[in-house]
Amino acid sequence: MNPDKTLRLSSYTIQVELNDRKNQVLLIHGYTGAVDIVSKELASTLNHCNQLPESCIAKLTERGYLTFQDAEDEYAYVRRIANVLSRRNSVRKKDFTIIVSYCCNFKCPYCFEIERLNKNGKHTLTPSEAERLFDAMLEIEPNRKLHNNSITLFGGEPLLKSNLPIIERIVSLGVSRGYKFTATTNGYDLDSYLHLLNPSKIYGVQVTIDGIKDTHNARRVHSSCQDTFSKIIANIKAALQVGALIKVRVNLDSSNITEIQDLLIFLQQEHILGHKNFKIYGEIIDGEGNFCPTDYTKHNDNLDSNCFIETLSKVTPPLPYSLSLYTNIYNAIIRHQPISLNPQHCGANATTYILDPKGNIYSCHEYVGSEQNIIGTYIPHVNWNKEILDIWHNRISTHIDNCAHCKYALLCGGGCTVKAQNSHKQYCCDNFENKLIGITKLIFNNISHE
Ligand code: SF4
Ligand code: SF4
Repeated sequence: MNPDKTLRLSSYTIQVELNDRKNQVLLIHGYTGAVDIVSKELASTLNHCNQLPESCIAKLTERGYLTFQDAEDEYAYVRRIANVLSRRNSVRKKDFTIIVSYCCNFKCPYCFEIERLNKNGKHTLTPSEAERLFDAMLEIEPNRKLHNNSITLFGGEPLLKSNLPIIERIVSLGVSRGYKFTATTNGYDLDSYLHLLNPSKIYGVQVTIDGIKDTHNARRVHSSCQDTFSKIIANIKAALQVGALIKVRVNLDSSNITEIQDLLIFLQQEHILGHKNFKIYGEIIDGEGNFCPTDYTKHNDNLDSNCFIETLSKVTPPLPYSLSLYTNIYNAIIRHQPISLNPQHCGANATTYILDPKGNIYSCHEYVGSEQNIIGTYIPHVNWNKEILDIWHNRISTHIDNCAHCKYALLCGGGCTVKAQNSHKQYCCDNFENKLIGITKLIFNNISHE
């Protein structure tokens, strides 16, 4: 504790000026999780806090924005919080993903799995392997109550028409054990799965659309069909009609970012955008990862991250991105929930287990099929590769030199492991500060348009 008990601005106070509310600033506190709107005048006085009225000081201190702790004490305090939160993560619900098959009917030029698909062969789960997989989930986490009831189906392409019998088997095995499913799919064969799309079986699907017709068709390439766009749009409409939740991901780089508004207009005309069960978000394809092989970005112009943020905030309606950060900030601002603090960046660092048809377990979707990142195996029994598992699960922001004193340590969690590894660093900020500011403005922007 500071011996003189000097009141000062906390090193973890984050200020975001709100565009549409010219005289207001959003304050976020990096370890109490407080979120408040204050006047610009008050925000500018925080550095000279002794000039503030006592009642104001008391409130700002209670929320964490002002503190009597010196910087070193605050860093040590945040390290202790981070250690507690990472122990909490180890007893949080586990999220399971099933890689049904590494086969795919698309040949997208930016696919992150392309380099590994051939090596991994065309193996698809068999019925007995599917049963083993559900037993393995209970070996990974014996307490069934600590399983997320929603399992993700992933690939390759999980919802290939030819996968229907094994998907029906997996869904039946899962439903009898109290699980339900979502699928990450290219959407091409979704019409073969309409009978499974309901709240107790496959209740939601994520589909990728990369632009209006011609652009999408050039990027989402089927092995024989030229017009994947029209079939996917028809399938989305059919899935919405049977009550499925549809989330569309738009993978953006410099070649299609300019078309995003046209895509939104098209989806609106088709009565898809605006449907209560439909959501859409954008993600940037960049050179450090994010579901694309490095050689794709080497041969394509990288999209500047700030241009991506700005474009998505200017289209109508403004488009969310970085969904977990967006949801965290959205819930705090709109639903008045405490902001979620975590020293670990994503599920891959704590709670995600991805089981593939070869009997391997991974923690990150981006690394499926990568031999160096197998954290364990589950056939015939679960067997951990402790060294690799520790690389993923012991990654805590306050244990990383550059992140230990960062005011975003419990909001960013030290950044994406894949991007850090690809950039040969211990951490990767990935424009976190600007994303946080951009998302906050975007949420307020959406409120003022409602
Ligand atoms: S480590 Fe990176 S790529 Fe992997 S799941 Fe986490 S954020 Fe995504
Ligand atoms: S990766 Fe960057 S933004 Fe994230 S905690 Fe570390 S230093 Fe902060």
